[in-house]
Amino acid sequence: MEKSHLTGSVFYNYVICPRKAWLMQYQINPDTEHDLLSLGRLNSKEHYERAEKEAVMPGIRVDIVRREGDELVLGEVKKSSSGLEASTLQLAYYLQRLEEEGVEARGEVLVPKERKKVPVKLDEETRERLSSSRSEIEELLENSNPPQAKWLKFCPNCAYAEFCWS
Ligand code: SF4
Repeated sequence: MEKSHLTGSVFYNYVICPRKAWLMQYQINPDTEHDLLSLGRLNSKEHYERAEKEAVMPGIRVDIVRREGDELVLGEVKKSSSGLEASTLQLAYYLQRLEEEGVEARGEVLVPKERKKVPVKLDEETRERLSSSRSEIEELLENSNPPQAKWLKFCPNCAYAEFCWS
C-alpha cells in the first residue's frame, strides 16, 4: 500500500491494535451501529457543537479547528483517555501533514468527561515516533492478511470484537 494512502486513523488504530489498523485500512467494515462508535460521535457533538467545526482534508479528519491569533489549533475529542497515546500520534500525524503544506499548527487531545487537555507538538521525539510508526505501518499493510487476533484491553469495546472472537 502506498504512503499517500496512510491516514490519521491508521496511525491511531495501529497504536491501539495492528490488526484493527489492517482491517480498517483494507476497508473491512465493523458494525457501524456499535454503541461506542455512536457514543464517540455523541460525545464530540454534545461538548463542542457550538464552538467549532470538523475539518476534513485528504487523509485528515480533525474534530476541531480554531485560530488563536496567528496560531492554528487542532483538537481531537476522545471519550476517555484510554487511547491517549494513539490519539497523540494521530494528531501529530495531522500536524506533520499540515507542516508539509507550509501550515504551522499545534494540537490538543481533549477528553471532556475527564476535563483533560493534552498538548501535542512536533518535537524531535514525536517526529521520530511518527517516522518509526510509518515504517511499521507500511510493513504491516504490505501483508495480504491481517495479524492474528491477540486479546487486548481494547477488545471488549472494539467494533471488530465479534469479527475477531466469535
Ligand atoms: S477485537 Fe481486539 S484483536 Fe480484534 S481488532 Fe479489535 S482490538 Fe484488535
